[in-house]
This record gives sequence, C-alpha cells and structure tokens, in this order.
Amino acid sequence: MEVNTKRLHERLDALARFGRNDNGGIDRSIGSQADRDARAWLTAQWQSAGLNVRTDAIANLWARVPGKPGAPIVLGSHHDAVPDGGRFDGALGVLLATEVVQTLLENRVPTRHPLEVVSFTAEEPNPFGLSTLGSRAITSKLTPEQILAAHDDTGRRLADVIAQVGGNVKALPFERLQPGEKAAYLEPHIEQSRNLYDAGLAVATVDRITGIYREWITVEGEANHAGTTTMPRRHDALLAAAELALALEATVSRVNRSDVVGTVGKMDVFPNAANIIPGRAELILEMRTPDRELRSRLLEEFTARIEAIEAKRGVRFVRQVNLDQAEVVLNPTVAAAIADGCQAVQGKPVSLVSMAGHDAVHMSGICPTGMLFIQSVEGISHSRQELTHDAEIDSAARALLHAVLELDQTLPV
Ligand SMILES: [Zn+2]
Repeated sequence: MEVNTKRLHERLDALARFGRNDNGGIDRSIGSQADRDARAWLTAQWQSAGLNVRTDAIANLWARVPGKPGAPIVLGSHHDAVPDGGRFDGALGVLLATEVVQTLLENRVPTRHPLEVVSFTAEEPNPFGLSTLGSRAITSKLTPEQILAAHDDTGRRLADVIAQVGGNVKALPFERLQPGEKAAYLEPHIEQSRNLYDAGLAVATVDRITGIYREWITVEGEANHAGTTTMPRRHDALLAAAELALALEATVSRVNRSDVVGTVGKMDVFPNAANIIPGRAELILEMRTPDRELRSRLLEEFTARIEAIEAKRGVRFVRQVNLDQAEVVLNPTVAAAIADGCQAVQGKPVSLVSMAGHDAVHMSGICPTGMLFIQSVEGISHSRQELTHDAEIDSAARALLHAVLELDQTLPV
C-alpha cells in the first residue's frame, strides 16, 4: 500500500493559493476570505474522498470515514496561518492526515478504529488574542463567556466571526469533547526548529511539549530632561530594561541546552521622546522549557541578577506572572508508534521536544496524543521562507501511515 504523494503535493499547492500575498507569503487568519475559501476547499476535498464532514460549535472541521461507530483515531492540525506566513505550518499536517486516511479508505484496509481528520480553528495568534482557539474551546479550556467577550481592535466580535465560518459559540457547552470520546490524536507538523535539518533526517516523534512562562514587567525609573540631567543622576528605565533582557540571556545561555530559551520580545518605552530620559518601560519576558525544576532555579538566578540592576540604577521592577502553561508529556504508546513509523522510513527513530505550542497540548487532556515532526529547511517558520522538501513530506506520509496502522492494533477499541 502506497500513499499518493502526487495528490498530496497537488493539494499543498492548491491550499497555498488561499491567502497568498504579493510577497509570496500567506495571510490566512481566522474569519478572513482566505480562511473561508480554505474551509470550503477542504470540505470539498474530504467529501470527494468519501468522508462525512462536520463543523463543530467553535468551527473546527471534522471529516470522518463513514460507517463505523466508536471512538476514532483522529489525525490533523490547523489551516490558519500567521500574517505573511508559510505554506507548511498547519496546512501540511491537515493534508498529510487527509492523504493517509484517504489511502486507507481507497485500499479498503479494515481498521479496528474509525478514522477522522480534523482542522482546528485559529491555532495561531490572532487579533482576538486567543491562540489555539479551536482546540482549547472544544477541550473545555475556554468558556463560552471568554469567547463571547473577545473582540479585535476594531470592535469585531469573535463570536460573530465564528458564526460566519459555521460555528455557534452558544452551542459549545453541548459539544465539548469528553475523555474517551476519541481513541487518539496524532498531529503531524513541521518541526519549526533545526534539529532534523542539522541531522539530515526527515521525521521525528515528539515526547514532550515545552512549558511556557511569561511575566509582564514594568520598569519604574524617573523621566527627566535629556540635556540637563547629568549621567550619574539618571534612573533610566530603558537602560534598566535592556540590562534585564541581557540578564535573562546570560541566565538562560549559561545552561547551554536546546530545550531552554528566554526572550524579551516586546517592550514599550514611556514617554518615548527624543529629549526625555525614559521614565518607564513595560516588557514581556518569556521562558520556555519542558524542565519545570530547572526553570525555577533559573528564575531564582535571574531574580538575583535583576535585584543588582535595581540597586545599581535606582529603579524598580514590578513583576506579574501572566502565563504559566505547564509542559506536556505526550502519550508513550502514541509516541512509540510514531517512532516506529520514523524508524521504518529512515532506519532510525528520533525523539524531540517541541519548543512551540500546538493543538496537541490541549487534545492531550482528552485522549492519548502524539506528534510527528517533519524537517523544516534551516529551521525557518512563521515566515514566507518556510520550506519542507518533497522527499521529507513523502517520508512523513509513510511514517504517519505506519504509525496509524500500528496504533490501530495496539490501542483498545
Ligand atoms: Zn502550527
């Protein structure tokens, strides 16, 4: 039995047309015309493959092989994209899932479990401020009230956008997934990092997904005249913030591990004028690692470093934890089946940590969950430069098929 890689590549080209901009990147955020076009096109692809398509309350798309009751093995990812994003993030996972399920259907392979494909709504950060929206909502991690309150800068309500793409937020309490309702969830996704590229390998299983920790930090200094205030008398909030960012870098870099990273990616300076010493800075600090204990130790070290900066510069850091998303250990049975799939196509299993969040984080609370990573050239993603070569895509399709067949045997019905 062979997957139809030609059809898979044609579909990748076709899906990449929805939202393509003049630079060659893809703009396909929730509720855009491109999102609606992509949904219509996916629905048509699935229906022509003989699948039953359903849109749930949060507008996730589900396509199920008809005729078999019971908890299905679900394969999929998301079809939305970051602004000026690439053609593989999310889309490749949905189309690999589609191809594998269609291959099994066309070859009339009798599976013990029903099979289902999913494309989740709004996985990427969006103007409504709720990423992994579809998977969080359907696994009860967001309430209808939270979604009903969400709107973008222009006042557009998220619930209206969800209705436009076929959902109904008020129906969410009746449609939430219950534990046991799905037999397993497998998410194929580009790696978005360079481990596989550097190793010259196509695919890997994922055993853990990083925790994400964020603090909002306000730096309180003293605004003053940029000409008349001598250097020793300054309490410059921007310089203190810059030192804080460097202290984070020093703390995290010292452990020298690929699964520990720290970033200050956002900063606002007040009053932000050429002739005024910055009196205040607001920034967001982020640290990611799957190792919670190590994170605590690094935060202690970081705190000691920035207390020294406070003392030296006569400023104050006001810290508030804004996000503390726990790391996720993926299901060992699913991870092992995916590892066997990797072994079958490249003679070597590889296990990686995901340093990005995914819908799989939330599905892991409902059913045994695993991820298949596919090589990203140079590790580039969230960019129009994102690239995965045909050969690696073909390997991923074969590995996924292998994993599904193995799981169909090992998981209880
Ligand atoms: Zn993604």
